[in-house]
Amino acid sequence: MDTKVVKFGGSSLADADHFRKVAAIVLADKSRHYVVASAPGKRYSGDIKVTDMLYECYELAFRGEDFTERFAAIESRFNDIISGLELDMSLQKEFDGIKDAFAHRAGRDYAASRGEYLNSIILARFLGFEFVDPAAYIRFDEQGSFDLETTRKLLSEKLSGIEYAVIPGFYGSMPNDTIKTFSRGGSDVTGSIVANAVNAVLYENWTDVSGFLVTNPTIVDDPEPITTITYRELRELAYMGAGVLHEDAIFPVRKANIPINIRNTNSPEDRGTFIVSDTAETSRFTITGIAGKKGFSVIQIEKDMMNSEVGFGKNVLRALEKNEVCFEHMPSGIDTMSVIVSSDSLIGKEKAVLDEINYRCHPDKMEIENNLALIAVVGRGMRKQRGTAGRLFSALAHARINVKMIDQGSSELNIIIGVEEEDFETAIRAIYDMFVLTAHE
Ligand code: ASP
Repeated sequence: MDTKVVKFGGSSLADADHFRKVAAIVLADKSRHYVVASAPGKRYSGDIKVTDMLYECYELAFRGEDFTERFAAIESRFNDIISGLELDMSLQKEFDGIKDAFAHRAGRDYAASRGEYLNSIILARFLGFEFVDPAAYIRFDEQGSFDLETTRKLLSEKLSGIEYAVIPGFYGSMPNDTIKTFSRGGSDVTGSIVANAVNAVLYENWTDVSGFLVTNPTIVDDPEPITTITYRELRELAYMGAGVLHEDAIFPVRKANIPINIRNTNSPEDRGTFIVSDTAETSRFTITGIAGKKGFSVIQIEKDMMNSEVGFGKNVLRALEKNEVCFEHMPSGIDTMSVIVSSDSLIGKEKAVLDEINYRCHPDKMEIENNLALIAVVGRGMRKQRGTAGRLFSALAHARINVKMIDQGSSELNIIIGVEEEDFETAIRAIYDMFVLTAHE
């Protein structure tokens, strides 16, 4: 059976109009057997997600304050969807039960999970699918870590007897049966878990964009979409802040070799982006994506004959470890070493870190430079292509950008460069022009 698991994010299920689009998509393909739903998201910019409303409301309940008004606003989000869809149903009993549980402090995770729970009841009714509560099947262990083995067993057994179902995203339960949620955006993870449990051929993740773009559209106008990306490339880009998918959503499907297809609910004809474990398909461009982040600092260390001093690097890193600072990159020369760390992690610890390095390594000179931005240029195609680095640096030189750091991963899947924060956007545009725009000509 070619089973597909489809997950719809909060913006795809924010109101009745979106529910109709979702139903059209699900019902257009009989292999879309299992639907994972988020809580209603924002209907317009400035709107509040139901999950956030639930957190706020529960906070009041927890403090013993009156939460009736806040709760009524949540009820009306769901009632608007029900009436907009002209469904003959009422969630009043559910609302009363949840209110009661709030008053009895049923827990923050329980509170947050009710958005997906209620939305999925409505969607199941609208589609004519069965509703399956993940509390009984998606399980966490005593430590609060997700337990894939147990979950896989319980969930695959349950779903094997159901042809079409809607399953709320975002939560499961602890060994003592209290509700536990994944971190924010966690319905992506649920979709991936369900796909794993039913051995799906495809996990479709429907959102409000047509997949990943080669780079950030707030920096480059109308960047090209990425049609296919590997999990490894995605990890590199996601680490640098290119987010569409929850990070933990990769593991369950990757383990089972199930591709993910990111699709747009508002533009279902777009093919979106396929995320695959490996692909024979050559990428359209030498590079797959460009992502970056500001807010890094470099600790520059100089010492004559550093290269012949055994354990120098280790001692530098011990100094960071002692101050609980994690390093990102560590390019080194013969007598120099630069350690790149996120500036946030260094706040208030600058002196302690420098003192510790001084004490352990006795460098000749040391300084901290702030305002560094890192840019990752990622692509499985780079390995096969000669001259990629040459093109990259000549693009940057033409744009008059001073490259402060270079780090090429040994996998040759990425090149990371460091530039001044003020050059960040210009650098990304220059790289995009070189590898994507000129590739069209
Ligand atoms: N509703 C949850 C959140 O807002 C989970 C999700 O949408 O994936 O984070």
